[in-house]
Amino acid sequence: MGLCASMGLCCSKSHTHEIPISSSSDSPPHVYRPIPIKSEDPIPPKRAPRNPLPKPASSSSAQIGKILLKPYTDVTQIYDLDKELGRGQFGITYLCTEKSTKLKYACKSISRRKLVTDKDIEDVRREIAIMQHMSGQPNIVEFKGAYEDASNLHVVMELCSGGELFDRITAKGIYSEREAARIGRQIVNVVHVCHFLGVMHRDLKPENFLLVSRDDDSPVKATDFGLSVFIEEGTVYKDVVGSAYYVAPEVLKRSYGKEIDVWSAGVILYILLSGVPPFWAETERGIFEEILKGHVDFESEPWPSISTGAKDLITKMLTYDPKKRITAAQAIEDPWLKEGGEASDKPLDSAVLVRMKQFRAMNKLKKLALKVIAENLSEGEIQGLKQTFNSMDTDGSGTITLEELKVGLHKLGSKLTESEIEALMEAADVDKSGTIDYIEFITATMHRHKLEKEEHLYKAFQYFDKDGSGFITRDELRHAMTEYGMGDEATIDEVIEDVDTDKDGRINYEEFAAMMRKGSVDNNYGQQILS
Ligand code: ADP
Ligand code: MG
Repeated sequence: MGLCASMGLCCSKSHTHEIPISSSSDSPPHVYRPIPIKSEDPIPPKRAPRNPLPKPASSSSAQIGKILLKPYTDVTQIYDLDKELGRGQFGITYLCTEKSTKLKYACKSISRRKLVTDKDIEDVRREIAIMQHMSGQPNIVEFKGAYEDASNLHVVMELCSGGELFDRITAKGIYSEREAARIGRQIVNVVHVCHFLGVMHRDLKPENFLLVSRDDDSPVKATDFGLSVFIEEGTVYKDVVGSAYYVAPEVLKRSYGKEIDVWSAGVILYILLSGVPPFWAETERGIFEEILKGHVDFESEPWPSISTGAKDLITKMLTYDPKKRITAAQAIEDPWLKEGGEASDKPLDSAVLVRMKQFRAMNKLKKLALKVIAENLSEGEIQGLKQTFNSMDTDGSGTITLEELKVGLHKLGSKLTESEIEALMEAADVDKSGTIDYIEFITATMHRHKLEKEEHLYKAFQYFDKDGSGFITRDELRHAMTEYGMGDEATIDEVIEDVDTDKDGRINYEEFAAMMRKGSVDNNYGQQILS
């Protein structure tokens, strides 16, 4: 639930590389506090009784759950629980089928063990109450029911089988301004509906929007009201919550209201159009500094070619002073955002293409190391890209030819010249076979935020450091690169020159990790546009 800038890749992920926002003093980190005794609990007498308490917990047939305050229900009597769809900080979401109707739903299960403090229980009750309250609105996931048993709390809701908007942006990319406007409109609509119904969402980010289906024009729906609150007029909110990239400046200043949701939606819109977050740095602190400066970059690529209407709207949504910021109600009337509005269908550069360009600019060791990482990625981590590969590999041969790459990039909306495509082809074709195989494709297009995962980096380092000395020596480097036909002295010199910062002629883990992380603006959308 919120509290992280988690840029998870897909459903089966575990959210590592999160940038958690430290809890504020008014919402302290978990302190073990006993749950208050409720009237239905046996109240221990002051002095120990001679006889044990009369009613042991398990003897009751209608145990009352402490969270929902209604009798325990065995969800498995009503639903068949199936595969995992995704997970967050507290819960795991499963696919489930209602036995009586055979209809499919999503079931978010939260272990009672994770609900330790009064505040945890209060939070989860509020999440359910808000879901129920918001249910029935377009662009909001429909609530079906909540059930509690001795070990879990289950929240059953409408199934959104198209995955997270996050994956949609990073794997396929957004095709055109018109498409960005179509999605942006739904996001702004969520903000409008929330505010209209007296709810502040507080955790708007692409991971918390789900696509109803896999269709290109699938509607998006908001989920995860874990950080949401019912707005109390006149209250100044202080808790620092949300996810780093999306957090409004006034949240960091600990005095805010519902305008923060408009800001977060503005950040999402910026990402939809450019593939990069507007406020970016290597660390959480750095991100916050950028947000507090409040400067929005509309000069870098691809902004010069984006319409003024889009930039105007984003400027209004990312207005620093919340009092001057556009409201959600005003934003849905915006001429660029409106259905059939100004947004053109001129293609935008796709995320896949941008990553390929970035790959091309890397030194050879980095390319090889990425390949080692790509080989070790799980199915779940490359979802999206696998489909992209298959749709480019039109003849199903398992490799992409230059011709297929041309057609595929064209479908993704690229305006590259013949020679630019050839250069990309050459860069991606690490083994110089003349075509791009599956692993090469994943290597060149995977999300660079994988690099933040220590385990991946470490594995890649060990691959080169054959004798396990803790250093990649010149010989080891030559050995590894020769396998890929690039073990010539000039290339090795170039790599060592580039990476060996302490100039001892070999590469230690720190130098290796620094090289890998360098320039990957993209610990999330991380594509620096290099063209
Ligand atoms: P958390 O509060 O722990 O972040 P979320 O409600 O965001 O939990 O759910 C975690 C993940 O589970 C989502 O990002 C998504 O991948 C998946 N998920 C949640 N709700 C649904 C749903 N209704 N349909 C399909 N997948 C879902
Ligand atoms: Mg979530």
